[in-house]
Amino acid sequence: MTSYGLVIGGNSVKTESDFAVYNKYSGEEMGRVSKAEKSHVEAAVASAEETFKNDSLSPYERYEILNKAAHLLKERKEEIAKVLVGEVGKTITEARVEADRAVQTMLLSSEEAKRLSGEIVPISASPGSENRFGYYIRVPIGVVCAITPFNVPLNLACHKIGPAIAAGNTVVWKPASDTPLSAFILMEILTEAGLPAGYVNLICGSGSKVGQWLLEDERIGKYTFTGSPGVGKEIKEKSGLRNVSLELGNNSPNIIHKDADLEKAAQSCVKWGFTTAGQACISVQRIYVHNDIKQEFLEKMVKYTKEVIVGDPMDDRTTIGPLISEKEAIRVKEWIDEAVSQGAKIVTGGSQNGPFIEPTILEDVEETMKVVCEEIFGPVVTILPFDELEEAIQKANNSNYGLQSGIFTSNINTAMYAVKKLHTGGVIINDGSTYRADLMPYGGVKNSGIGNEGPHYAIEEMTELKTVVMNLS
Ligand code: NDP
Repeated sequence: MTSYGLVIGGNSVKTESDFAVYNKYSGEEMGRVSKAEKSHVEAAVASAEETFKNDSLSPYERYEILNKAAHLLKERKEEIAKVLVGEVGKTITEARVEADRAVQTMLLSSEEAKRLSGEIVPISASPGSENRFGYYIRVPIGVVCAITPFNVPLNLACHKIGPAIAAGNTVVWKPASDTPLSAFILMEILTEAGLPAGYVNLICGSGSKVGQWLLEDERIGKYTFTGSPGVGKEIKEKSGLRNVSLELGNNSPNIIHKDADLEKAAQSCVKWGFTTAGQACISVQRIYVHNDIKQEFLEKMVKYTKEVIVGDPMDDRTTIGPLISEKEAIRVKEWIDEAVSQGAKIVTGGSQNGPFIEPTILEDVEETMKVVCEEIFGPVVTILPFDELEEAIQKANNSNYGLQSGIFTSNINTAMYAVKKLHTGGVIINDGSTYRADLMPYGGVKNSGIGNEGPHYAIEEMTELKTVVMNLS
């Protein structure tokens, strides 16, 4: 059984205690990982700080390193995909997609390393400053702390580490305790790509402990976090005046208007409602369907849902693997049962077996039910009928979240009206709210977070402006 040490200053550091990482389908132990104590967190931050102070990598060198890392990720795609299947429980098809996307995220980051620039500021236009010339440049913040979640452990880490390194920062990274194994592959790849020791330091251990130590450390200049809103709020409260980016949850609304292509809409809602067993922050969850086409749409949804294959995630035919744990599956099942006890009807699915939840469609739901108003994070979608678009948009906006939404319509005016009115960080037209390309700006409003990812945009948040004024008189 492989035992993994923390990575501090390029050294593998084995600590006194460790924890096991399990295969989420078979339950077998995949490896053991060292648990960080406070002293290790301090050492990791010290390494990142020292490396930042002595940094001599040029933008072109950063480009070359990240570009090489992207190519190495590509070469090791199959090996990486298998680790993701094991530690996350996602299917091999989903795992390959994640590995491919991680390649793109690193490539995009590498390209951005050559584009860090500034702008001339027309200071001479200010009365009394006629002889002055000014401009600003973007400079790195320093030590960036990246805290990442279990559901997309590799690509979401690349979304933080890639831009941080491209912008000239150094990193302390804490992956989710359920899924730290892919992190060790990424560390190996970064080293092989030529990233010197100390630029990325990897520490593992429970979020509540390690997270606290990280938040207390004033040497960290920025926290970039993806995870649950509760932890996001805690990070915001405890980070004081330091810079934070938070990518949090959602209970994504999707509107199916009466003029939509129902076949495509149903296929899309099934695909995006159940991908990664519904454990995606932008998973289709609330489906607002026009009453005129509700029955036809629902029949199509049921037809495609019945084609979903639940089972061994390593099997190429499987479309849904297990949830991250049986505990989470039990929680999802409780939410379904609670909704049913409050009047909801199960159209299809609804059962739980160990860590598996059968893909589930619920109708006759109320806005106050947890399956509607909270983030379910399981393969469950809810059907909410409407008569007027305005009503659907108002209900879609009636949420504490606002990450992405979707609208299906064949009318450009309807689509653009929805774009204007939907209060979410992104609106997807004629595809589910779950669509994401790694180069696009991606971030939420309300409790879905602060700031944007996508390497170009993440870099803006991982740098500070420095203004330069010359007195030429
Ligand atoms: P968690 O918030 O439980 O964990 C995320 C990370 O935070 C883990 O590394 C965890 O460590 C760590 N952590 C836990 N407690 C603390 C703490 N007190 N201080 C600092 N760090 C802490 O989220 P999940 O991993 O369960 O991920 C699911 C959530 O992530 C969902 O809400 C989902 O919507 C959201 N998400 C958002 C995305 C976005 O881009 N907006 C994308 C993907 C997911 P440990 O594992 O050790 O507990």
